[in-house]
Formats: sequence, C-alpha cells, structure tokens
Amino acid sequence: MMRIRAAVLHEPGRPVVVEEVELDPPKAREVLVRIAAVGVCHSDVRLADGELGSDRWPAVLGHEGAGVVEEVGEDIVDVAPGDHVALCFVPACRSCRYCLAGQPNLCLAVAAANVGGTLLDGTSRLRLPDGAVLQHGLRTACFADYAVVSAGGAVPIPAELPLWQAALLGCGVVTGMGAVRNAARVQPGDSVAVVGCGGVGLQVVAAARIAGADPIVAFDRAPEKLERARAHGATHAFATSEEPDPATAVRDLTEDGVDFAFEVVGRAETIRLAWDLIRPGGTAVVVGLAPDGVEASVPAIEFLSEKSLRGSYYGSGDPAAELPGLAAMALAGDLDLSAVVTAIEPLEAVNDALDRLRGGEGAGARTVLVVNRELAGVTA
Ligand SMILES: [Zn+2]
Ligand SMILES: [Zn+2]
Repeated sequence: MMRIRAAVLHEPGRPVVVEEVELDPPKAREVLVRIAAVGVCHSDVRLADGELGSDRWPAVLGHEGAGVVEEVGEDIVDVAPGDHVALCFVPACRSCRYCLAGQPNLCLAVAAANVGGTLLDGTSRLRLPDGAVLQHGLRTACFADYAVVSAGGAVPIPAELPLWQAALLGCGVVTGMGAVRNAARVQPGDSVAVVGCGGVGLQVVAAARIAGADPIVAFDRAPEKLERARAHGATHAFATSEEPDPATAVRDLTEDGVDFAFEVVGRAETIRLAWDLIRPGGTAVVVGLAPDGVEASVPAIEFLSEKSLRGSYYGSGDPAAELPGLAAMALAGDLDLSAVVTAIEPLEAVNDALDRLRGGEGAGARTVLVVNRELAGVTA
C-alpha cells in the first residue's frame, strides 16, 4: 500500500478535496502509473455535480491523463516500467460481444465496472485513511500522484511528446478525432458544423480540417472562443448569442444545411440546433455528455428527409489502438495539442478548473493540472 495525494469527491455539489489517500499495488492485469499531468474535462464536472447518476462517490476524479509506468502486475506484456503512457478510460476486455465486433469503446466489461466505480475485476485499489473505499472515477482516478489502471488503460506513447500535452490524448483528442473519422467518416469537401468550442469541440474542428471538410462552421455562445476555433481550422465562426442565427448562417454558406453537425455541449437545445443545421440526408452527431435524465427532441416529420441523429462515445472506435497514431500526429506537428490548453496549474487548483468549466464562458478550453512538474515536461 502507498499513500498518495488525490482529489476526492466526497459529495456532489461540494468542492473536491486534495488529500492523502491509500492506494493498493496493481493486481494481475493492472498497471501502476506515476501521473505527470491531467486535463480537466466536462465529464469531471458532471461527476462532481452528481449529474451522471447517484452512488458515484466517494471517488477520486480525473480521467484525461498521462504519466510513466511505475510497476506492472502479472500478465502485463504491452507496457513496462519507465514507459511513457497516455491513459485510456475504456480499458476494453477484448473478449465481449462489442469488443469482438470492433466496438471496444462500448465494452460490456467496462460498462459493468462503471456502475461501481471499480477496476475491471470489480474491486477498488483506493481507500480513505479511515478505510472507506473510494471509487476510481471513470476507471482512471488520475487527479492523483499515482493511479492503478486495468490492462489496456495505459497506452505506450513516444517519450518525445511532453506528457502535459499527451495528457489530452486520452479523452478530448480521441473523442473529437473519432467523432469525425469513425462516427461521421467525414470526406474531403464535406460541409461540417460544430456546436460548442470547448476542449473537445476544438478537437472536432481540428479533425474536420484534417479530414478536408469545407466549410467548417463553428458555433459557441461565447464570442471569445471563436478566435480559437478559427485557429484550429474553422472557416467560419459565429456566436449563437448574436446575429445571424445559426440556421441562417449555415444556409447562407451551404444552401440547404451541412452534411454533418457535431454537438459538443450535452444540452437538449444544442442537440436540437445541430439537427436544425443539417441538410436532408445529413447526420447530426451528438458528442456532448448530457446530464442523466435530459431528453432531446426533434421534429419527427423531418425523418422523411432522411436526416439522422446518432451518438458518438469516446471516438466510436478503438481508442487504445488509435492513441499511438494520435501521439505521432502531435509529434509531427499535424495536431497542435498545446493550442487548446488555456491554463497550466497545480493539482491543488482543481476546483478553480472545475468552476471555469461550470461557467462555460470566458476562461477557455482546457486546464491541464500538473501533478509532477518534472515528469510533465512543462518548460515555460
Ligand atoms: Zn473527458
Ligand atoms: Zn469488451
């Protein structure tokens, strides 16, 4: 057992507490990772606010991280101590129906572990000093000095990529890129709209640019986010709070709507907006994570024009298999990871970062919490 520093959610609606907790060593098919840096994602806010269902606390939060392998349990062959890794919060079992069908992002074993906040064997390695069992937030729990993850949850990446940037790969990047490449399969010349330009939305914009989409029309309610969207490849960017209204803006550019609209917010109104922006035969892809209980509706008569509404979870593919390629793209300069980062702060600033995401406006796209400054490779 080791004592580590971790950000603990004791109860929704209250600040998380950075405190000392106990972490057991990795069992068979598990990996102990020394965490370097962690991105703060809207899903952390949803968990912290109790919006993803009850009984999901007490828990250590954090799921978008990177670090260095410290120790491996039995039967781990794909990583070794010293390897740099990006964390993948869907450590697919590789043997269930979905895994065998090429949809490991929907792995049944992972879904089962999700219910109790455990690792894949159904138990937790985390405890409070008083013995109370802690959940592993999204199976990762990396707002912490160290994390034990199930096999497949730590994916080797080139050591040249700074870990504070690599941290972003395992949620925002894989989610945004996969929505474009795997869910929508955007082709050169396709028209794309992106509703919501936060950390993941910017990755959707970047992926659409890499796919050759044109135009790429970005929307956000915060005008200050539009400049960043343009920098990531949006050909046009509009504030939903200002004229023209989004449907008019899109029709001016595309005549009858875009081929694909990506919703990256997780609200009923923005899901409806994405639907309203697509052409007959077009597809609205919902990437945003809505709180438990939210319902979205669309005018049913429009199914006559063969419009489609589909979801995309964690890149709609094989996230662990795609992470090394995404890391290589970042190293080659095809993917600018640092450009979405608007704040680099110590782990203790976690509540400020969560608050900025709650506010939604103004303060930017992504905070990276540096857990271990030396490992993270932050130079400036
Ligand atoms: Zn996330
Ligand atoms: Zn599976």
